[in-house]
Amino acid sequence: MPTLTFDRARACVIERVLAHRLFAAPESVALECAAARVLAEEIRADRDLPALSRSVRDGFAVRAQDVPGTLRVIGEVRAGDRFEGAIAAGEAVEIMTGAPVPRGADAVVMVEHVTRGADGSVTTDRAANPGQFISPQGCEARAGETLLSPGKRLGFADIALLATVGKNTVAVCPKPRVALLATGDEIVPVTGTPREHQIRNSNVYSLAAQVTRAGGVPVILPVAHDEYEDTMGLMERGLEADLLLISGGVSAGKYDIVERVLADLGAEFFFDRVLIQPGQPLVFGRTREKFFFGLPGNPASTMVTFELFARGALELLGGQSQSVLPFVLARLTRDFHHKTGLTRFLPATVDWNGTEPQLTPAGWSGSGDVPALARANAFLVADADRAEWKAGEVMPVLLK
Ligand code: AMP
Ligand code: MG
Repeated sequence: MPTLTFDRARACVIERVLAHRLFAAPESVALECAAARVLAEEIRADRDLPALSRSVRDGFAVRAQDVPGTLRVIGEVRAGDRFEGAIAAGEAVEIMTGAPVPRGADAVVMVEHVTRGADGSVTTDRAANPGQFISPQGCEARAGETLLSPGKRLGFADIALLATVGKNTVAVCPKPRVALLATGDEIVPVTGTPREHQIRNSNVYSLAAQVTRAGGVPVILPVAHDEYEDTMGLMERGLEADLLLISGGVSAGKYDIVERVLADLGAEFFFDRVLIQPGQPLVFGRTREKFFFGLPGNPASTMVTFELFARGALELLGGQSQSVLPFVLARLTRDFHHKTGLTRFLPATVDWNGTEPQLTPAGWSGSGDVPALARANAFLVADADRAEWKAGEVMPVLLK
């Protein structure tokens, strides 16, 4: 079974999911419900954008060749209206931002650059370039031109564009259903009272939050005991969803039986170890035409491996053409060092209140430290090949 570097493992996930994803029939949603959904149809311009040449300033529509000079004002045109006549030599029409440019005019002179005469004329001492302050008809898009393609997760500008072309309802990809299966004899439900040697099931809730944010619908299964039959039965249920995420049971312990059960379910494994920390014993594979991840059970490992790998798989299964990892650069407030060999994703705090983001590694007591994970607002990314960073150097961080 291969052990992969972070980059290779991420590429493997993207490649496998793109090669084997299945698309369900699109659903139709109202425009005001379409934000963050994944577009499932091609969107074209229903007319030229803009539909006719418009002024981008308040001022006077003129013939560029007539200025500098004094011009006779023959009327006005405001946004939402149009000027029926045409401008001849020596004439101007007062025009407002967004109004159609009258026939004959080929430039707009800003209102700030003219003086008005007592006789209703205007004078400007500036020359004008043909086309200045005019958005020509069709300069943004031609009627019929493709503006959005399937696979885009709709952001606020896309929503504006849909409204612009008159799309009141839009076809989007159905949200993938993601089964969440926590394993472990020590795990008790959040409503239960854990004994000293037990812990509450936090992973399915962090995963459910991550799944929802990534555009999926979480389906929480009962906790599986570290026991073959129980795990097998719950995994079979989980494989009815579009993606199965298992937490725990993938390390080398005597009761870590997840891989064995998956193998008996006919799984093909693409990797079961990645050179990262936290999250080294990470399993990715496919069976019964469904992808699954076996995420290591320590809360930090579960969170980080979801963000790095499972989120990408989920977004692609949800129809997105790309999945973005939101790395940004931040400047270290103190020295940082680690042992080379593994790419580390460690909780950190980024302070955004200054002129540039400042990065402080978090104090934490290891992968089970949920309070530290909640305090952190990012994971710093320590390259596997580099050991030392000095205060003042920049480092990539994965935003939470
Ligand atoms: P495992 O990957 O099964 O070896 O689990 C590693 C550790 O992660 C366990 O000892 C637990 O402390 C913790 N853990 C496992 N599953 C969960 C869960 N569902 N919620 C919170 N912590 C968990
Ligand atoms: Mg376990």
